[in-house]
Amino acid sequence: MKEFVQEVLEKSKAIQKKYSPFITIPEKIDLPKTKGRLTGIAISVKDNICTKDIQTTAGSKILEGYVPPFSATAVINALKEGAFIIGKTAMDEFGFGTFSVNCAYCIPKNPLDISRSCGGSSGGASCLTLAADFPHIALAESTGGSISCPAAFTGTVGLTPTYGRVSRWGLIDYANSLDKIGCIGKTVHDVTLLLSVIAGPDNYDSTVLDIPKEDFTLYLKEKIKGVKIGVPKEYFENVNEKIVKVVWNSIQKLENLGASYKEVSLPHTKYSLSAYYIIAMAESSTNLAKFCGMRYGLHLPLQGNYDEYFSVVRANGFGEEAKRRIILGTFARMAGFRDAYYLKALKVRTKVIEDFKLAFKKFDVLIAPTMPVVAPKFDEIEKLSPIEQYMMDILTVGPNLAGIPHISIPCGSVNGLPVGMHIIGDHLQEGKILQVAYAFEQVNK
Ligand code: GLN
Repeated sequence: MKEFVQEVLEKSKAIQKKYSPFITIPEKIDLPKTKGRLTGIAISVKDNICTKDIQTTAGSKILEGYVPPFSATAVINALKEGAFIIGKTAMDEFGFGTFSVNCAYCIPKNPLDISRSCGGSSGGASCLTLAADFPHIALAESTGGSISCPAAFTGTVGLTPTYGRVSRWGLIDYANSLDKIGCIGKTVHDVTLLLSVIAGPDNYDSTVLDIPKEDFTLYLKEKIKGVKIGVPKEYFENVNEKIVKVVWNSIQKLENLGASYKEVSLPHTKYSLSAYYIIAMAESSTNLAKFCGMRYGLHLPLQGNYDEYFSVVRANGFGEEAKRRIILGTFARMAGFRDAYYLKALKVRTKVIEDFKLAFKKFDVLIAPTMPVVAPKFDEIEKLSPIEQYMMDILTVGPNLAGIPHISIPCGSVNGLPVGMHIIGDHLQEGKILQVAYAFEQVNK
């Protein structure tokens, strides 16, 4: 085991030189203390998930040097099953972004073409997953699409579970009502295995569901004959035509396996992006209030009164996107504007959930493209305004607002770059989406 871990460490350092997936690679890797389902597998941890004795920055300068005295429940669960932690992966600051370019430390490059993004905000996780030639699965996190997007842009598999399936204890909050820890791996089996290990009740998180642990790998063997697929028509609008074609071809492959499909409408889709960004920013602006240079991370020489000190720390520590979100989020929940923005967005969220609930009365799963484009080049991203960047999330925010499980799997390519297909299920129907994803993966090799 010792030699194997050392070899993985050397390989990770070489990958870091080429593609920068890590914010931190520990000097010394702790060897696993037990044997279990993850023995012989390296786990990377997105840098907003706390790891005992390993720096955890959430991609932000304001947390530089923060070494948590504890690990997140998801991390503890993985370690108990014999995994070892290879490092902390790069991300947009606090999860604020879609391309991992808003990271204060490094920007992961897509191993398929280093002039392109690995997606975000879990870009380091998808980058490493693709580049690693050793057994590895990534612990990642999604608020509005941060697992699916990087999986789609790198041709890897990204699984976002039902909200509350995995404990959020030890996760640095972006937007509490939306945040979910999930996994990115090379195969459907990999992400299914890791989910089986990390999901389950936890006394430390009052929002985690009180549902016993389950072995989701058992679903992978089931046939998909008779499975009913809904194809939400709004999710094919404003999507690159070639991507649309690849996804429809994939739906046909599922039909050949005995599934049936029908178009369905999710009429509130067009409002979901605005609702998502108002809710996410409102919640994040309150969450970031605790970063004031007194308790965690960045400290500066104490000067002036408290307000003056913390203004200097926050001006220095937060990046541009975090500042934008603090201002917009604070505005959206201010007395006088709260009804017009925040409360309205919550109502829209309910409508989005109702759309999905109605669809799941008729269908087992919904299938759509994951992203409207393939992995963009960094110089293309630079030209996008913040709103244009937010618009890239149009297909991922719906399932995230609803807290329903979804998986992005590679389903083909456009101009040599991978296309992700989203398989979306009803609350707690991880088994169904994994079953369909696995069946597809077997015929799409
Ligand atoms: N791109 C989205 C955002 O910036 C989603 C990010 C995430 O899921 N963490 O909010």
